[in-house]
Parts: sequence; C-alpha cells; structure tokens
Amino acid sequence: MAKYIFVTGGVTSSLGKGIIAASLAKLLQARGLRVTIQKFDPYINVDPGTLNPYEHGECFVTEDGAETDLDLGHYERFLSTFTSQANNVTTGRIYQTVINKEREGAYLGKTVQVVPHITDEIKRRMLLLGQTNQYDIIISEIGGTVGDIESLPFIEAVRQLQWEMAEEDCLVIHLTLIPYLKAAKELKTKPTQHSVKLLSQEGVNPDIIVCRTEEPLSPEIRKKIALFCNVKQEAVIEAADAPTIYEVPLTMMREKLDVICLKKLNLTDYHEPELTKWKEFLDKLKYPKSKVNIGLIGKYIELQDAYKSILESFVHAGAMNECKVQIVNVHSEFITTENVGEKLSNLDGLLVAPGFGHRGIEGKIIAVKYARENKLPFFGICLGMQMAVIEFARNVLGLRDAHSTEMQPDTPTPVIDLMAEQKKITAKGGTMRLGAYPCSIKEGTLASRIYGKKEIRERHRHRWEFNNAYLQQFEQAGMVASGKNPESDLVEIIELPNHPFFIGVQYHPELKSSVENPQPIFVHFIKAAKEFAEERNNVKNPVLQGEMI
Ligand code: GLN
Repeated sequence: MAKYIFVTGGVTSSLGKGIIAASLAKLLQARGLRVTIQKFDPYINVDPGTLNPYEHGECFVTEDGAETDLDLGHYERFLSTFTSQANNVTTGRIYQTVINKEREGAYLGKTVQVVPHITDEIKRRMLLLGQTNQYDIIISEIGGTVGDIESLPFIEAVRQLQWEMAEEDCLVIHLTLIPYLKAAKELKTKPTQHSVKLLSQEGVNPDIIVCRTEEPLSPEIRKKIALFCNVKQEAVIEAADAPTIYEVPLTMMREKLDVICLKKLNLTDYHEPELTKWKEFLDKLKYPKSKVNIGLIGKYIELQDAYKSILESFVHAGAMNECKVQIVNVHSEFITTENVGEKLSNLDGLLVAPGFGHRGIEGKIIAVKYARENKLPFFGICLGMQMAVIEFARNVLGLRDAHSTEMQPDTPTPVIDLMAEQKKITAKGGTMRLGAYPCSIKEGTLASRIYGKKEIRERHRHRWEFNNAYLQQFEQAGMVASGKNPESDLVEIIELPNHPFFIGVQYHPELKSSVENPQPIFVHFIKAAKEFAEERNNVKNPVLQGEMI
C-alpha cells in the first residue's frame, strides 16, 4: 500500500512548495523508493491550458497530453519520470466531475454539497495514483496559502484522510516563511505560529515544519518553533535560500527531511541516497569552463515563468557542456530591420520561443533572417519553427506574402496552416494537438546526429502546422524536413544543411529535459553556440572559476 505525504504552504505564496516537494521526492527516489508528486490547484479553470502565461507562467504538457501547472515540470526535471493527467487536479476539474455526475443522476434525491461530495471527489483523486501499485509514496502539493477560502475543501480532504488512515500511512509538511528583520537583527517566528494555528483550526496538525529563511535557524529558534507549532524539534527543517533550485535536495538531505519522513511513515526498506549523477551535474553547473550568450526571443520575456522549461533545459544543457549559459532576453516586439544587428550581434545562439497570436511575430521573423544569414546557431520551437518557415518562404523562395493563417487568415500563401482536424473545433480548452507523438527522423541530417535514433517521441501543443503543399518548393531551395510524423506526414523538424546549426521543431523539446537526461537538441545547440563563440573570439573563453549559473 502506498503512503501519503501532503505539503501545504503558509504565510505567503511563492515560497517554493513545488521545489521542496520535488527535492523530497528526489531524496526518497535516490533511496530506492518509487515516488510521484501531484498538485492540487484551488482555481476554477478546469486546467491551466486557457490561462495567459502572464497569469500563471508556462503551461506544462505531459506525455498523455494534459495541460498542467508548471510545477509538474519541476517534478519531472527532478525525478526524470513522467507525470500524467492524474498528477494535476484543479477545483474546476473536481466541480466538473461532481456536476456531471449530478446531471447523470448519480446523487438522485440528495443535496449535493461541498462536504461530503466535493471533498469525497478530492479524496478520490488524492488516492488514485496510490491505487495503481506503481508507487510507494505519493506526495500531494496543495496549491495556495493556508487561510485562503479556495483551498479550504482541499485542507478538509487532507483532514479526513489523516483521520481515516493509520498514523504511519500519512504525514503533513507545512512550508512557511521565517522573516528576518534587519533593524532588529532577528528572525521572527510569529507568522509561522499564526499560520500553523490557522491550519490547526482547519483540523490539520502538521508533522513537519519547513522554514524558508535567509538566515540560519539557531537551536533556540528551532526549539521555539517546535514548541509553539507542536512538532518535535528534529521536525523543524531549515530551508535556506539556495543559489540554484538543484541544490535544494542536498540541503534537505543535510536537514534529514527524508529520514524524518521515513521514520514517521515507518518505512524501513531503503538504502543510502544514490545521488552521484546529481552531484556531478551540480559540480559542472557550479564550475563552468566557458560561457555563451543565448538570445531568447519572445513576447513574454518580462515574466521568466512563461519560459520556465526552456530556461531549465538551458541549465541542464549548459552543465552537460560545462558552459555557463547567459540568457539575453530580447523582446520580439521591439526588433526591427534597422536595430536587429545591434540587438543580436553579441549573441552566440538564438532561440525563437513558442507563442500564440500576432503580437511580436514580425520581430521574430527579422531575428530568424539575421541568424540564417549570419550563420548564428538557431533553434526555433513551435511558433519559432513556424516563423523560420515563413522567413524562408519570404526571403529565399521569394513568396513575399507568405504567412500563417493564425495571423492572417486570408493570406494567399499559407505556408503555415490550420491542421485539418482543428478546422471544426471552436472550443478552446484542451483542444490543441497535445501530448507525445512519434516522429521519424531522416538519416544523414542534423536531427539524426542530435538524436542518434530513427524514431523519437516529443510533446506537442499547437493548432497550426507546416503546409505540405509547399514542401517540394522548400526542399528544392535547400530547407530539409528532417522529421515527420510517420502516420499523418506532418512536418515536425526543419533544418538548413548549409548552415552550421539551424533547426526548428514543431514540438516542445523543453518539456522532456531533466537533470539526469538533458534534452539532446539543447545540448547540441549549446555545443554549436560554444563553437560559434570560440570562432568569433578566435580564442578560447577564459575559465570561469566558481561562477554559478
Ligand atoms: N500558435 C502556434 C500554433 O498554435 C504555435 C503554438 C506554440 O508555439 N506552442 O500552432
């Protein structure tokens, strides 16, 4: 039978519950246990797929095509295992299920209420993955902050489960903030005391308190927190600010968070944590031997969470290349033919980001042209690939009106067009081409050198595609469709063989990069950027000792 760990948060949002949950999961996995993490989000959207990135950051897509919270990306990057639709549940999805059941007559004669019907549905979802026999431990992160109206039913569900389960089958971790008051030169425990009190009023007594803090917790402070929050002193865990999120599993190991959980859950079948690969990665990350500047061309660059998986993929690929990847954010809306040289001349590689709608696309097209003509390593993802296709059509094939019907529905030259199966769809939620699809790779191409395989599976999230009516014209002019879906013939990868590194992919490779398995296109892109930098500087980059990414 699986054991359950619930993670709640108090005092403020953005304390990094997802990172703490992922770090604990990593440690338990490194001890030989089978672990997964799920996230419960208190908002009413059925999933985050319809949310603007400014609202909630990137939408992470799972292998089975679920549009989920970006925390699932952290779970996969830490654990190198896949999550699924079952790993992310929102209030909207819970209500949708209950209301659908009500319409079907499942509760006939009964008044449908938050307690027990909504809480029962939450509990059912909380236990679902534990019933598959695939996991020893299920960690459930409860979104929001204790005290929010929205998260009440989730906390109530945790209370009921705690009551129903045996003592050693579940535990609750509460993550809080211990602020440091500079003027008083003191750490303050009062907000934590209040937050734990609030949680207790809702019926849940935490077993472990994880304290985010800028300053080390003294034994006296730990004792005070333990006493007033009613936990053992060893269960007060210090989570000091770390230079990189990937350091957190090691800090949690030093604080024995995993050992305390194993003890409370009465688990004895485990070994010492095996973290060799993880530590090697951290060493490479901390001590890079070279440096590259990569331009990230997008329209949401003010908000780093919008490109979370891309940025993390660069961290993984940089470490693999022992190279510091400096991201230079370039707002696509402000790139013009006049300023492109000035904006991009310091770069060693250019990534054109995914996106929707027409804002900023002309800037993206100008940037692609610059990369193509100046032999600057280029990597286009989804919309970025579509922009590379449009640029080639306009400037190489001479099809001056070439466009995507997403931005110009009546274009006479639709080189990017709506996929046939999308034409009848009007609803927005969960209706894109989503999740992993196979892709066959052409031999002798850059893609085949990168992947070293004939068949790959990558994840998608789009509605438009390369229009195959133009394929012959593109291939005659030197653009190669090096990856295609074997069943539908949809073009998944394009590249330019007469360029040192020019690749565009219709899918999202950033969704499958992890610490222990960096995504190969990112790894090769950084390698190409390093070569570009070396050639340009004509000298090896200086060794950067001790510089963190
Ligand atoms: N808007 C484009 C499409 O739907 C690209 C999507 C993306 O970049 N994820 O096809």
